[in-house]
Amino acid sequence: MKSPIPDYLDEILDSVRSDDAGERADYIPELASADPDRLGAAFATLDGEIYCAGDADSAFSIQSISKPFAYALALTDRGISAVLDKVDVEPSGEAFNEISLDDEGRPLNPMINAGAITTHSLVGPEGCSAEERLERLTAGLSAFAGRQLSVDERVYGSELNDAHRNLAIAHMLRSYDILAEDPGVVVEGYTRQCSLMVTVHDLAVMAATLANQGVNPVTGERVVPASVIRQVLSVMSTCGMYDAAGDWTTQVGIPAKSGVAGGIIGALPGQLGIATFSPRLDKHGNSVRGVSLFERFSSDMGMHLMEVPAAARSVLRDHAPSGTETVRIFDLQGSIRFAGAERVVREVVGAEITENRVALDLTAVHSLDDVAGRMLLEVARRLSMEGKEVFLIDPDTVIPDPDPGTDGQLTVVSRGDELH
Ligand code: GLN
Repeated sequence: MKSPIPDYLDEILDSVRSDDAGERADYIPELASADPDRLGAAFATLDGEIYCAGDADSAFSIQSISKPFAYALALTDRGISAVLDKVDVEPSGEAFNEISLDDEGRPLNPMINAGAITTHSLVGPEGCSAEERLERLTAGLSAFAGRQLSVDERVYGSELNDAHRNLAIAHMLRSYDILAEDPGVVVEGYTRQCSLMVTVHDLAVMAATLANQGVNPVTGERVVPASVIRQVLSVMSTCGMYDAAGDWTTQVGIPAKSGVAGGIIGALPGQLGIATFSPRLDKHGNSVRGVSLFERFSSDMGMHLMEVPAAARSVLRDHAPSGTETVRIFDLQGSIRFAGAERVVREVVGAEITENRVALDLTAVHSLDDVAGRMLLEVARRLSMEGKEVFLIDPDTVIPDPDPGTDGQLTVVSRGDELH
């Protein structure tokens, strides 16, 4: 049987194909002469499956889609607070190339050019040379993609010839000491960064690496620490689509980034990396058909992050006493986070427990986050302080370190029938 997912992608591409609204970027010949009808899309799952449709092998320059990845590398190399000292994280509501800084002289965020040029300068260890920085940047973006990326020298040359505005921004940054080095050199590096060539296949894997907490799902390589990813995805969701960020967040609701060559990526945390490519742009500089595609993906597949999943029906079953049992068992199930754990706490606290032995059975729990684990252990501690003998039935070790804390007593068993 053939998977329905490529068919779905083909169908969605067909539904936007006739839309020829918007204009190609025309500030350099390589973009002005791009085939405006090219159209492609790709999904990359977090276990490394890739689905492509349309012009999936067409290469185009990554442009501003490089920004979140360079930001991730800078955060990794210099630490979050050192980067925040130089680049703020406030949505600007301005065009990507606005010449603007905040009251402290910092660029407003790393997704507009002022912030991205600064971010570029923060990639690599402090004091590294411009060449070392570019090597680190290219190797880092290549690790996100899972293959060696390279610069299109013609795109680079044309971009650099036309880099007046970015040079103006860089000189302004230098005058505020946000850039500590030759602005021309930084703009050259940033321009090379923008001229790396990618396909929607590459971009989907790069986005999936963001969605997968920094581990490339195809190569298995950890590219950046998980702690960096939350920062990057947050900034993408508030600033990734420039002055259309509000529309995008309400209509699509997926952390995203667009580029002037016509690419867009979306990273759906814990689920999927998405990429689209279509060169005609709207007035914000975002691909017209790409935006439509993402709107379709989001509504067809329930991908809006603010689409709240139905609350788990019940995370708890209390085996009410039968008179013959000597142990009271609370059966927990499903995926338990704060809200689910609060229900367990409430039920256990409110239950009239006559048995001397109490068990929390986690056999049917498939995930439990840190706060939920701590809440259950606190319940166990309080039960044991009331004189109960407390058991945790945890065959899959969903609580890895079941320490009930001061004065708590807890016996971990792997099977419920060991208690009878
Ligand atoms: N190279 C372009 C620039 O810096 C990238 C802009 C973009 O993709 N929005 O101006």
